[in-house]
Amino acid sequence: MNIVFLSGKGGTGKTTVSTNIAYLNGFNYYDCDVEEPNGHIFLKPVINEIIDSGVLNPVINEDKCTLCNACVRNCQFGALVNTGKKIMVFNELCHGCGTCSLSCKYDAITEVKRTLGKVEVGTYEKAKFVRGILNVKEPLAVPVIKDVKKLINNEENNIIDSPPGTSCTVVETLEDMDFAVLVTEPTRFGLSDLKMAVYVVREMKIPFGIVINRSSKDDHIITDYLESENIDLIGKIPYSMRAARLYSEGKMMIEDEEFYERFKKLSEDIIKRVDK
Ligand code: SF4
Ligand code: SF4
Repeated sequence: MNIVFLSGKGGTGKTTVSTNIAYLNGFNYYDCDVEEPNGHIFLKPVINEIIDSGVLNPVINEDKCTLCNACVRNCQFGALVNTGKKIMVFNELCHGCGTCSLSCKYDAITEVKRTLGKVEVGTYEKAKFVRGILNVKEPLAVPVIKDVKKLINNEENNIIDSPPGTSCTVVETLEDMDFAVLVTEPTRFGLSDLKMAVYVVREMKIPFGIVINRSSKDDHIITDYLESENIDLIGKIPYSMRAARLYSEGKMMIEDEEFYERFKKLSEDIIKRVDK
């Protein structure tokens, strides 16, 4: 069972909700928010393996290259340019798909690994903990997310923390998910970004429900939209200074008795929906 937590925008409390649900149920936790993975702050894992994550970039042998242009034509990411004198490779755009070397009839392309980040593998309590970390200034996050997801065992119970937003990193994370929990906040910005996240999960045909974090008197901003679209509201977590204090201290919200009960109910309501 793979349950992904995502949010249209950053700062809605996606990681707070996902780590508390994971901890409460003893589920494995996979942090695919590779540009800013912070689930470890709360779950405090023991890391026992670090895997290098990267892509294979092409290197052109100019002695063999005939400038036939086949590789340039077939690269869907625009990572190759024919200057008329040589083929230039823009590594930052290269996704390491290998199409160029397959296209080359002249054996002019070899591949060299470029490191983009790393994947940490360990445990918290008795569950598995995996997090991807993208190198600073590295724009290509998808291969690191793929490396995190390779370690998911679909037969186990897994919580996957998605990057925020609705870009290709989110689409990659959503592949093969059984259920999506969209965490939002009751603000106009929250609503705007939630609508985009709803669009993506609907396009990908993933069953989903909404959690309103920092619930307040402004909840109607979100609930009016949910009602109009017939979208399932799974639950709410109230705005609270106590919660903010726990968060700033890197503590789990379920350490607080009131929040423990709320998260227990919330996780039962999520699992019920996944099991349907
Ligand atoms: S396909 Fe091979 S020979 Fe043709 S331009 Fe690319 S590297 Fe050169
Ligand atoms: S490996 Fe793929 S993305 Fe990279 S240059 Fe070759 S065809 Fe383009």
